[in-house]
Amino acid sequence: MFESLKKKLSGTVGKITDKLSREEEEAQKSEVQEESGKIGTEKALKADKKKVKKADKKKAETDEKRTDKSDTAEKSDNKKEKSDTSESEQEKTINEEIEPSEKEKKGIFSFVRHKTISEKDVDDILFELEMSLLEGDVALEVAEEIINSVKEDLVGRKIKRRSDVSEFTKEALKKAISKILEVDTQDIESLIALKRKQGEPLKIMFVGINGTGKTTTIAKIATHFMAKGYKPVIAASDTFRAGAIEQLTHHADKIGVKIIKHKKGADPAAVAYDAVEHARAQGKELVLVDTAGRMQTNVNLMDEMKKIQRVIKPDLILFVGDALTGNDAVEQARKFDDAVGVDGIVLTKADADAKGGAALSIGHVINKPILFLGTGQSYSDIMEFKPEWMVEQVFGE
Ligand code: GDP
Ligand code: GDP
Repeated sequence: MFESLKKKLSGTVGKITDKLSREEEEAQKSEVQEESGKIGTEKALKADKKKVKKADKKKAETDEKRTDKSDTAEKSDNKKEKSDTSESEQEKTINEEIEPSEKEKKGIFSFVRHKTISEKDVDDILFELEMSLLEGDVALEVAEEIINSVKEDLVGRKIKRRSDVSEFTKEALKKAISKILEVDTQDIESLIALKRKQGEPLKIMFVGINGTGKTTTIAKIATHFMAKGYKPVIAASDTFRAGAIEQLTHHADKIGVKIIKHKKGADPAAVAYDAVEHARAQGKELVLVDTAGRMQTNVNLMDEMKKIQRVIKPDLILFVGDALTGNDAVEQARKFDDAVGVDGIVLTKADADAKGGAALSIGHVINKPILFLGTGQSYSDIMEFKPEWMVEQVFGE
């Protein structure tokens, strides 16, 4: 799941780390060159000093000789000895001063001492990431937000050691992705509890286009809540598509759930209404309403859906989208949200989705939470979606 997205993110961490390391190596090289230039000057200076000293000494000696020829020979010998030692000591100190830069050249000392990340350091690589995210079906606004957030985080940070760069970059990306996935969520079990207090079932209406996995998803969600001890009922309100009622009936029979259905072409709102009445009468907590898988552009079918909404007043409208369709799924979600107001998202076929573009973008774009991910073709292949899980999925080992 989301392997390609994961690769893009870790690749970016690698690229930024490499670039800054290369830059630092170059900076160090030129620093070493500068340093050895400085050493040359120091040596020349020292040689000059020696010459001056020697000249001074000679001058002094001649002066001494001139003033006191008899007993200064010994003294001047002592003096000469002394100044020789002080010269070799001086040389030693200078050698010690040279040593650290030699060590640094060999990489013994720390990687960077005063590097601050600049916009120029990360611009190209983040632009590359943005393009690559767009290719991976991440929505434009989401890709832009990620890049801006990472840039804001990284630029101006001071690096002290080599490992800082990769750590900071990973942190910045993680933060950006977490922010994108942060959407107020709904807890279905608390909603069920709330409705139960009012003696009402929780009514969930599923919308989305054909082939995204809507009927399978309804069966999976029924299975999921049955496992938690709840009693669901399914409404076959897709009375439009040939075979839809049979398909849903097949699922319902397999998982052992009551299905309320009328004939093909019947009023979908009436079917949904009956299912709600059934749940009330039987004390069932959950009504799951299928709807015709219309194209978001079909006005008549959109109106039909609004009618169901008007008649049963669903507590939640869940949009079912196919993760593999990427940006299309995001656009569909937007259209359905505009038409009927979506409360949450079920993203199917996540098991087959390497890109992760829809998973990353869809909730952020319509500002509604992904509640479930479909992770396979059997009824148990469904999981509650948690942003932290997705972050771990794309940044974990
Ligand atoms: P509908 O037309 O939207 O009701 O779609 P269906 O429920 O009939 O599903 C269409 C196809 O997608 C079926 O073959 C399902 O088995 C498959 N499918 C549904 N959900 C998933 C999922 O999460 N993962 C995978 N791999 N396949 C799925
Ligand atoms: P209309 O069809 O344009 O008049 O829309 P309404 O909002 O009045 O009703 C919508 C649909 O919901 C109706 O056509 C009925 O089929 C169905 N409906 C409304 N009330 C009930 C009810 O009490 N029982 C049943 N079974 N269906 C109902």
